Amino acid sequence: MASPNIGVLAIQGDVREHVNHLTACGASVTLVKTPEALANISGLVIPGGESTTMSILAVQNGLIEPLRAARKRIPMYGSCAGLIMLADRIADGRSDQETIGGLNITARRNAFGRQVDSFEIDLKIDVIGKPDFHAVFIRAPLVEAVGAGVEVLAQIEEGTSIQVVAVRQDNLLATSFHPEIVEDLRIHKYFLEMVKSA
Ligand code: GLN
Repeated sequence: MASPNIGVLAIQGDVREHVNHLTACGASVTLVKTPEALANISGLVIPGGESTTMSILAVQNGLIEPLRAARKRIPMYGSCAGLIMLADRIADGRSDQETIGGLNITARRNAFGRQVDSFEIDLKIDVIGKPDFHAVFIRAPLVEAVGAGVEVLAQIEEGTSIQVVAVRQDNLLATSFHPEIVEDLRIHKYFLEMVKSA
């Protein structure tokens, strides 16, 4: 597959930033606003934004069940709110908040607290190699619990505390941070490799 066609869920969030990164990596991109648009893509990116709003709009647009079906068929990558959308369980969500699910994790929304609700840190991520990745967190979720089948790709270690911020399970990839707003394309390239080998 020379140039895969990647969908970006385009109902809310930082859609354009992901489109720019995917295009820079050589992919063609389809904006996904309807279930029909899921038919011709070989991977899907779920952007950062606000997962409660994204959930409501996905339900209103009849997208939740088609997205759940699609994630069994094609690789998906979620950044920040997108990570929450791919989580099987949410802590501190709205009571009626729906997710696509598939990642056997509990995602705690806005987990880093008010004082540090935005921060940047250099992360060691073995699957993309050196150097460390400059990760930007904006009202980010934390992967609070990791279940069977989930591979931890990145974590923040401070003394004895370990905070999981990037995971993969089979064809699903998720980061608490926003690679779409830094110039480094390595997370998007890693996802495109997942798509090519799916
Ligand atoms: N706090 C947001 C949520 O709960 C996520 C923030 C983000 O995507 N930057 O969905």
